[in-house]
Amino acid sequence: MNYRHAFHAGNFADLVKHAALLRWLGRLTAGPGSLSVIDTHAGRGLYDLAGAEAKKSGEAEAGIGRLMAAADVPGTFAPLTEAVRRLNGGGSVRRYPGSPWLIAQALRPGDRYLACELRSEEHAVLREALKARPGVRTACADGYAAAVAETPASGRVLVLIDPPFERADDYARIVETLAGVRRRNRDTAALVWLPLKDLETFDAFLRDLEDAVDAPLLVAETRMRPLADPLKMNGCALVLLNPPAGLAAELEAICGWAAGLGEGGAARVYAPGA
Ligand code: SAM
Repeated sequence: MNYRHAFHAGNFADLVKHAALLRWLGRLTAGPGSLSVIDTHAGRGLYDLAGAEAKKSGEAEAGIGRLMAAADVPGTFAPLTEAVRRLNGGGSVRRYPGSPWLIAQALRPGDRYLACELRSEEHAVLREALKARPGVRTACADGYAAAVAETPASGRVLVLIDPPFERADDYARIVETLAGVRRRNRDTAALVWLPLKDLETFDAFLRDLEDAVDAPLLVAETRMRPLADPLKMNGCALVLLNPPAGLAAELEAICGWAAGLGEGGAARVYAPGA
């Protein structure tokens, strides 16, 4: 495992994923009954944008740096920009929140959150970042297996799956995990992040998912450039299982704005097979 999210924290892909996550959490926490959130690939929780990794890649500057400075930002980004401002005490953006920090601050008393991170050094930082938060647990464990084992049999559940895609079997394990969490609780909702390199890989994943899971799906693609070079991350996609009404229009605004950070970028939100 070589992947270090510190190089990528706050890039366009994080903006899309985190803005969508917060919009969905906003709906779920406005509804009745408690909520369980499981984050299969949590990372370290908080990222230092003044650190060597962020400086070297320049990805945060081209992502969250531009978002916070832009005048044309759609309102759909407001929960994310407010969270980033709060984390930085209203000053310049030196820290960027990962999914664990964003989820933990969005939950209400009585809600529960399990954050899984396999790499022990990352997990140690994560545990510290989330310590003493009621309802929050971390596990230094394989998030795919933990999600299936820990999905409650009833109640409202949101699973976030955000792998590093270092391993060829990540696509198959996502499909297996989504089928598994649905077997435990048919109403489980999920948000999956995937890279867009070439369309063949992504389309094959979607076909496998549709075969394995009989539930409403929504796809939101953010292409930063035409998908001409399959060795590059040319964009990213979010796949939503059991998406709530009204989120598609918000995803169009989020992905459309983020695609504008690219060169010849474009966004597309659709229900596969429709
Ligand atoms: N979700 C985080 C966020 O939005 O802030 C970023 C997660 S990063 C893309 C992926 C993380 O998954 C890495 O920290 C990596 O160490 C971890 N990881 C890799 N394989 C894993 C597995 N099987 N289970 C849990 N974590 C894993």
